[in-house]
Amino acid sequence: MSELKVNNLRRTYGKVLALDGMSFDVADGEFFCLLGPSSSGKTTTLRAISGLEELEHGSVHFAGRDVTESAVQGRGISMIFQTFALYPHLSVEANLAHPLRRSGESASDIKKRVGEVAELLRVTHTLKRKPTTLSGGEQQRVAIGRAIVGRPKLLLLDEPLTNLDAKLRDEMRTEFKRLHRELGMTMLYATPDQIEALTMGDRVGVIREGKVVAIGTPRDLYGAPTNTYVAGMIGSPPINFVTATAPSDGEIALPFLDQPVEAPGVSSGQPLVVGLRPHDIALANGEEGGIPAKIHLTEPLGDVTIIDIRTRDTDMKMVLREEVAARFRVGDEIAVKFDPRNLHFFDPSTGARAAHAAT
Ligand code: ADP
Ligand code: MG
Repeated sequence: MSELKVNNLRRTYGKVLALDGMSFDVADGEFFCLLGPSSSGKTTTLRAISGLEELEHGSVHFAGRDVTESAVQGRGISMIFQTFALYPHLSVEANLAHPLRRSGESASDIKKRVGEVAELLRVTHTLKRKPTTLSGGEQQRVAIGRAIVGRPKLLLLDEPLTNLDAKLRDEMRTEFKRLHRELGMTMLYATPDQIEALTMGDRVGVIREGKVVAIGTPRDLYGAPTNTYVAGMIGSPPINFVTATAPSDGEIALPFLDQPVEAPGVSSGQPLVVGLRPHDIALANGEEGGIPAKIHLTEPLGDVTIIDIRTRDTDMKMVLREEVAARFRVGDEIAVKFDPRNLHFFDPSTGARAAHAAT
């Protein structure tokens, strides 16, 4: 049975349609990520699940119960916001104890529970201090501690890493995965960052303008994106798109190739948008011939370098390991190749996946 069922939520603010049929299910114990750009409806969705939004339409079921009309308390749901506010005048210990005080547990139980959570989040050394004397990462850990101290069944996380610096974000991604494993709690995590969604999510729901447009494992979404929006949203650097035509059934002509390539399922005359991932373009060696291309930009990232190439009039990105990329300079002529089975085909008018060479 699925733990959380979000069904067809609709919410407008004046003329803005914030949620437009938002639907998805999260399984018991799952780490589910909602991935969408700013203003796509992530926060409104989480607030609706917490019971903080007036919905015009739709329902939320949790742990087998319809909670659409239930009070915020008593849902067994806890939420961590993008800007985490700790009580500045209270010690870390008192901040962590606060949610338990409201639920009326005994002082000794509270002390024990706070100790366990502090241990789990590695903030035991800060318990007597005020939040303002803590580093950003420690403050965030305390905020997480406060959200989980009451043992919620579902933890909602709204861009909890967006305001942290890059190094801390990397560390905290690992922390969230560890916490999820150790607590066995169901987690729903909203983020605009595909790296966060792909590295942490068991499954990812991609949202656009208030609704889910694709759901799948990170592997599914990367390997077989259902439309150009998902294809462009997932994968770094982003997928290359080129327009193409089908000169005959089962074949497409790409702008940078003399010969058509095989494209099973494509019919003659069909216009297409073709996607080719930067990681699926490789250097061709001398004997293979390959497609002539000119390097017009390099972006070294340390272990790999993103290479911008131009082949005929088409600009594309490819990725090379740093030691290989180091042999080349801007302006160099190279030859590249790709496996036609890695091409993704989309309908240019709807953006929907049209056919796939490998399927
Ligand atoms: P996200 O969290 O993905 O950035 P939100 O759920 O915050 O998106 O917002 C979705 C849309 O609803 C946006 O266009 C936003 O401007 C609008 N919106 C959200 N909250 C309010 C509000 N309280 N008043 C008016 N518009 C709002
Ligand atoms: Mg938001």
